[in-house]
Amino acid sequence: MEVLSHYTSPVIEFVATQPVERQHALVDNCTGMDPMPPSTDASTETQARQEVSTQTESCATGTADYDVRALAKWLQHICPMVEQELLQGMTPTLEEHIGQANQRSLQEEVQVQTYQKIAMGSTEHSQGLATWLSVHTNNAPILVVTIVAPHDDWCEHIQQQLHLYVPKRMPHGNFVVYTEAKKLPLKSCLRSMTTNPHNKNIFAGASMDGDIYVWLYEQALGGVEIKQLHSVSSTKGAAVALDWVMEQRLLVCYANGAVQQWLVSNQMLMEWEYTLPATTGSELTAMLSLGLDDFVVGTNDGSVYRCWHNGRGATKVGGASGPIKQLQVLSLRRHRFMVSTLLKTNMNGHRFVLSCDLSGQAFYHDMRNMDEDAAQLIVQIPLPFKNAIACSRDGNIIYCPSNDGALEYYRVTDGAHAYVKGALRGRGSLIKASDNGCWLITGLYGDEFQIFYIEN
Ligand SMILES: [Zn+2]
Repeated sequence: MEVLSHYTSPVIEFVATQPVERQHALVDNCTGMDPMPPSTDASTETQARQEVSTQTESCATGTADYDVRALAKWLQHICPMVEQELLQGMTPTLEEHIGQANQRSLQEEVQVQTYQKIAMGSTEHSQGLATWLSVHTNNAPILVVTIVAPHDDWCEHIQQQLHLYVPKRMPHGNFVVYTEAKKLPLKSCLRSMTTNPHNKNIFAGASMDGDIYVWLYEQALGGVEIKQLHSVSSTKGAAVALDWVMEQRLLVCYANGAVQQWLVSNQMLMEWEYTLPATTGSELTAMLSLGLDDFVVGTNDGSVYRCWHNGRGATKVGGASGPIKQLQVLSLRRHRFMVSTLLKTNMNGHRFVLSCDLSGQAFYHDMRNMDEDAAQLIVQIPLPFKNAIACSRDGNIIYCPSNDGALEYYRVTDGAHAYVKGALRGRGSLIKASDNGCWLITGLYGDEFQIFYIEN
């Protein structure tokens, strides 16, 4: 029996080169040689029927008297498999085994499927911008996309457009198809675009040539409309990030360290401007608003700063463009590479800011915690480089666009990893999740966006 158990226990820890059911079957075969109730193992049961007396005797006496033929048959059966498993290399650790189990459960619990491709007919090496608006039907929100042709600062692309996609419910099936409903010409490529979370029919965009636009999506009798509510020009170049503080307040962030708050009502008025201290000496790459006079910025050297107002020394009158804001600055845990994404999320009822750099290292900054040395959640997303991420509503799952239209996702609590195969070409640099957590858009792959549907 010692010989048998010597072989049996390691089998479960080999790489799953065969289906799991089969691995368990192997274990069962082994234990089947033990004096166990025949009903637990089909093969033993067959044996028992052929040689009832021997089996019964050995069980009753309890001596180590085994059926040699059964043992030989079992060894013949098991040896080639063991050899094959040994050829596969080292026995994985138990952790890897658990990892594989977690991976399966993540794929089952959060089912993500490729849903629809959207072709744009763009020039080569273009990038995509997209934002989800309000839900239209079947939990599916309206979608706005645009493409950005490759260039540095100056834009000469006067043929650019905003494309509005409406989810159309199919008459004979409980599903929607995204259909282009409207095109709006743009004076130049956009640099950033964002939906107003307080009124999801309103969205803002910043163009390469320094304009800021606010648009309204409307359902009219004759179909749908995109109405331009406002446009203002800036001499600071393209805004790298936009975010809404409140329904009528838009925060605009420029690479040179300037952040402006605009009142968006009958007209657009700049309420104040703040400039990050020159000592930080880096370009801003990402920004998000946490509330009135409270925001977080990320830079090209990996720094993350929280800027907020402590209630004193509010604004100074003056400045070329508007009142100058005085804010407190707190340095949060720093990345080694450029901050590519900042996201707001709630985990267990607490507010976190999720920052991600170009290497795929993600930090969850606890916004209650002013001491960044205190333990913070750090997630290392395996290379190759991830330049954009989105996260689930509970903050526990991170989605990354992968090569050729594929999607990778990770569960933070147990490190499980899952993968959805894509059927496009190239590398996506954009990912946007809808507010209801059901939809993702990634791109641009060649000239196509990929929409994913998430079943929770
Ligand atoms: Zn352009």
